[in-house]
Amino acid sequence: MDDCVFCKIIKGDITSTKVYEDDDFLVIKDINPVAPVHDLVIYKEHIRNLNELKADNFKDFSRVFEVITKVAKLENISDGYRVVINNGEDAGQEIHHIHFHIIGGRKLGKIA
Ligand code: AMP
Ligand code: ZN
Repeated sequence: MDDCVFCKIIKGDITSTKVYEDDDFLVIKDINPVAPVHDLVIYKEHIRNLNELKADNFKDFSRVFEVITKVAKLENISDGYRVVINNGEDAGQEIHHIHFHIIGGRKLGKIA
């Protein structure tokens, strides 16, 4: 998608700090971190949010927790971290290209 920040990052048109990559997911550092570790697991296909996932996507997403636990180990936060999806406008999703936040490296408060 031409005007999507994450598509541009995946294509390499916008620079990012890569943490991990495989065929389906790119994991980068969030540009505006809310904790010492704040990474984004970005699906390589431009899908707006969970509501648009199709059968083939679900197959790819069956691996996402493997990716997340791998990244938590790389980042040394396996003792505790939060995984967040802001799904849709009311949840505060700002970039409409499906992604997970991995947040950790400090004691986290309760979810609002
Ligand atoms: P969301 O509200 O779930 O859509 O989150 C979007 C996230 O993307 C925010 O935490 C932003 O700080 C982050 N973000 C926006 N632009 C960039 C960028 N160019 N590189 C890395 N992270 C970004
Ligand atoms: Zn996109």
